Amino acid sequence: MSSFVELGLSEDIAHGVQSMNFIDPSPIQEKSIPVILEKKDLVASAQTGTGKTAAFGLPILSMLKSHGKLRALILEPTRELAFQVGEALKDYGRLTNLRTLVIFGGVGYDKQKEALNRGVDIVIATPGRLLDLLEQDAISLHSIQHLVLDECDRMLDMGFLPDVSKIIKKTPTTRQTLLFSATLPPEIQSICSWALIDPLRIEIGVLRSPAETVKHALYPVASNQKQELLLALLEKLHYQSILIFCRTKVQADRIAHELKKAQHLVAVMHADRSQGERTEALAGFKSGKYEVLVATDIAARGIDVASVTHVINYDIPGHPEDYVHRIGRTGRAQTEGDALTLITGEDLREVAQIEHYINQKIPREKVEGFNYTYTALLEQTEVVAEAAVPRRSLRNTKPANARRR
Ligand code: ADP
Ligand code: MG
Repeated sequence: MSSFVELGLSEDIAHGVQSMNFIDPSPIQEKSIPVILEKKDLVASAQTGTGKTAAFGLPILSMLKSHGKLRALILEPTRELAFQVGEALKDYGRLTNLRTLVIFGGVGYDKQKEALNRGVDIVIATPGRLLDLLEQDAISLHSIQHLVLDECDRMLDMGFLPDVSKIIKKTPTTRQTLLFSATLPPEIQSICSWALIDPLRIEIGVLRSPAETVKHALYPVASNQKQELLLALLEKLHYQSILIFCRTKVQADRIAHELKKAQHLVAVMHADRSQGERTEALAGFKSGKYEVLVATDIAARGIDVASVTHVINYDIPGHPEDYVHRIGRTGRAQTEGDALTLITGEDLREVAQIEHYINQKIPREKVEGFNYTYTALLEQTEVVAEAAVPRRSLRNTKPANARRR
């Protein structure tokens, strides 16, 4: 029998997982599942793409066994993640009669209320809409036995911790509480201290290192040639699907527009797109209808698209943590993926911080045959890499182009 059964999961669930072609549990699953089945509280961290959803989803489904009342609540930072986790739980639980409901904002209330009235066992929700429903007395959390705070660092980043705290207080203190996160910033520790009881801690891998299968590269370019270089890169790359990150919504729209003009199949995700548009973009990207998805950070964090072969940072992320999160979209579940970052003269500080953070020098590359306009950056293969080691020294270092000229 599969090792999922050996971890103590019920046969229904272990078989359900097997039919998804999960052969062996991932390390975070192997460690978390037995602890959760013992009803202990848990703080678990492992980098993006390591299978945290199944790590809490499988044991919860296994403990709930069959349809009854609402007993499990899973909080997610974004609607996309809530939807995705909902789909995963439906898949894992396909051999049970357990009912899941995904609750998120931006859509009408009626369907969610109707489903609640019919009765569900597991709710997967974003904090805002759940609080709305609680205020309207459309949902009660008094029978919750298992509470999961998923992607907790992301909920923190998005300013949801006050809402999350309110929700936690509406669940019984007898509940089991599970906290899953890619990283564990100090603010999360404070939640752990009041919301969890004597939690076990499981940390998998070096939290800071992005998936080891990912190849990184920097592409120096003059700022006015970024768009052109992006097009040239897309011509050169052998890709199945590419995620392109940029800083602003306006820019996301502009990039998508340019790529469409060049005959690429493109979708866009950012906070100003309607729920319908986002769902369509993501579904189309997953199905292969779109080969390129242009997104801002908020929109795309935690999205799992197994076939993403490349991530391109059109803009360098402002925080090294975001670099790691962004490229966590590729190289998932050990398939190879490439992470390419366009850099300009203004980005040297961020480059140094990222290289320091991931403790790795990122090679600089050029697109053969591309008609580069001159930027001193193109000639410096070492300066940034050297500066990357002691972060502080960088601020005192004159940009090398000053010296070269
Ligand atoms: P995380 O929440 O840690 O970022 P996910 O739970 O979204 O990661 O899982 C990432 C991907 O890995 C998903 O496509 C999932 O189906 C796949 N996956 C999870 N567990 C396994 C496993 N044991 N074997 C194979 N694939 C798995
Ligand atoms: Mg996750």
